Amino acid sequence: MNHEEIKRRLEGCEKVLVGLGEEWKLVRGQYDGRREQVCRAYQALYELLKDKDYFIITMATDAVIYETLLGSSQEQVKTDSQDDQELLSCQGADEELLARMERVFPKKEVHKDSRRERIVAPCGNETWRQCSLTCTKDIWEPGEIPDDLCPHCGAPLTGNTIDAQVYIEEGYLPQWERYTRWLAGTLNRETLILELGAGFGNPGVIRFPFEKTAYFNQKAFFCRIHRKFPQITEELAGRGAGILQDSVEWISGCCERM
Ligand SMILES: [Zn+2]
Repeated sequence: MNHEEIKRRLEGCEKVLVGLGEEWKLVRGQYDGRREQVCRAYQALYELLKDKDYFIITMATDAVIYETLLGSSQEQVKTDSQDDQELLSCQGADEELLARMERVFPKKEVHKDSRRERIVAPCGNETWRQCSLTCTKDIWEPGEIPDDLCPHCGAPLTGNTIDAQVYIEEGYLPQWERYTRWLAGTLNRETLILELGAGFGNPGVIRFPFEKTAYFNQKAFFCRIHRKFPQITEELAGRGAGILQDSVEWISGCCERM
């Protein structure tokens, strides 16, 4: 499996499911060049995904992805319904008739997901704050509470991540619902599953469920990239590939050849 092959598979598929594992985690404030490397990889991933109907599940809690193009709240993700509309307008229909039809049957405003709405971070987001004593399920945006103390009980606030003593999961649940709805729509569709850098640290988040998703969707192709554990289960033989390399480096390499 090389970069060209991945691009060919991307072109041929309808949906792309992306999992970003431990290899993408950054430690904020630690400047060792990894951040630049990861940001380059996010850029490359954006180039690969920008014209696809995709969803990203990430284990990184550093929220750096939201500072990249992948986290844009302005740009929208291309979807099937958009494809249909483009088809309609290309059929050379009588413009006057179309205009009249639109007056009689105004187009419904369909919500189109922004790129930001195609990311779910079930392990949390450390820039969001929660009460360290969990006296409330409130979650605050960065800078919302300047003294970083809980307005209800006065305890220090902490990052809204799995590292909190009691993790308030309400932070990611709305996105999780969006994700499971999207995932249901991949069944029996040509789906490329890119599992990037998810090892055995917390395999219940990405690694195991992705194997299951690949197994149940006979039209899925599963690509697992990891610096130590790229092995593919036997059940996926012929429908998967494992690449032994740091997934951040590998994805960055996709962009260099573009
Ligand atoms: Zn509190």
